[in-house]
Amino acid sequence: MKRSTRSVMDSIRLTGVRAEAAHGVYDFEHVDKQPFIVDATMFLDLAQAGRTDDLDDTVNYGAIANGIVEIIEGEHVDLIERLAAKIADRILDFDRIQRVIVTVHKPNAPIKVPFGDVSVTIERSRDHTGDSAFASSDAESRESHGSGETQSGARPASRVHKAVVAMGGNIGDVEQTLRAAVVAIDGVPGNQITGISPLYRTAAWGMEPGTPDFLNAVVEVTTTLDADTLLSALQTIEAAHGRSREVHWGSRPLDLDIVDFDGEISDDPHLTLPHPRAWQRSFVLAPWADLDPNAVLPGEHGGRVADLLDGAADRDSVECLSDTWILGGTA
Ligand code: ATP
Ligand code: CA
Ligand code: CA
Repeated sequence: MKRSTRSVMDSIRLTGVRAEAAHGVYDFEHVDKQPFIVDATMFLDLAQAGRTDDLDDTVNYGAIANGIVEIIEGEHVDLIERLAAKIADRILDFDRIQRVIVTVHKPNAPIKVPFGDVSVTIERSRDHTGDSAFASSDAESRESHGSGETQSGARPASRVHKAVVAMGGNIGDVEQTLRAAVVAIDGVPGNQITGISPLYRTAAWGMEPGTPDFLNAVVEVTTTLDADTLLSALQTIEAAHGRSREVHWGSRPLDLDIVDFDGEISDDPHLTLPHPRAWQRSFVLAPWADLDPNAVLPGEHGGRVADLLDGAADRDSVECLSDTWILGGTA
């Protein structure tokens, strides 16, 4: 990696610059202020200032501290990675500074387990060839290291998405398989199951006579994975339960479909969002509406899930079996 040819050994370190602002991914973080604390180490040649004792030969760290506070209190950002990048840019506006290491702490970040601090550290240099970034957090190390996405400091280390996954199957001990699928989805690094619908039985509509009924449920999951990676993870879980992919719409031990991902819309056949047939499937709509009565399906056929269910032609083909199935045997 090419570095600045100039040797810059001296440094000025400014720590604990603190301001409050509303930054973060979550809705409430756009409204509620929380503290952000910044440390910056600036590398520059201080030989001249050492000789002359003249402020003009160094940088004014008071001005740098003010600049940091201005950025914290400025325009909203979702990620402390972005905040760190903006602060580093501002500091490099001071011509004498050749390289800077910026750490942004977010000690009150919305993490559900006890934790001490979460911070992002980035390093930027004037020639922009020494860039590096890493995120660190005891509480989030699984996500931030598992996703491996952090590259330039402007990329999310662990942006949280919300997905709705429909589960179904009609071969084997399906209820047990669905329970195992919930545990497996939750166990994927970056995933967190946040809601589990009741269990439904669905008549095998339009399939060969004698086809066993399906069991269906819907789960909500927050994930730091992107949608494609989540789909791959779901397909791995299907395969672990003996799913082979040759029979489309056939009997299967386990089918996991992404119904919705952050309200995104895509007609990519590999991953169509929202799921293109969800709007007309009571075995998706009914458990989803139970889980979240205000749920909305995006897209051209979208609408309130509860309303779509009322209008669904196969409304009578689904039957709610259990609210507590996840805890033990029902069927
Ligand atoms: P249906 O899509 O009507 O529910 P299915 O679940 O039986 O049918 P599969 O054989 O499981 O279909 O999947 C076929 C392909 O659909 C998969 O290889 C996958 O790439 C693609 N696909 C497109 N959109 C989605 C989505 N939202 N969720 C899951 N798979 C999807
Ligand atoms: Ca399906
Ligand atoms: Ca599928």
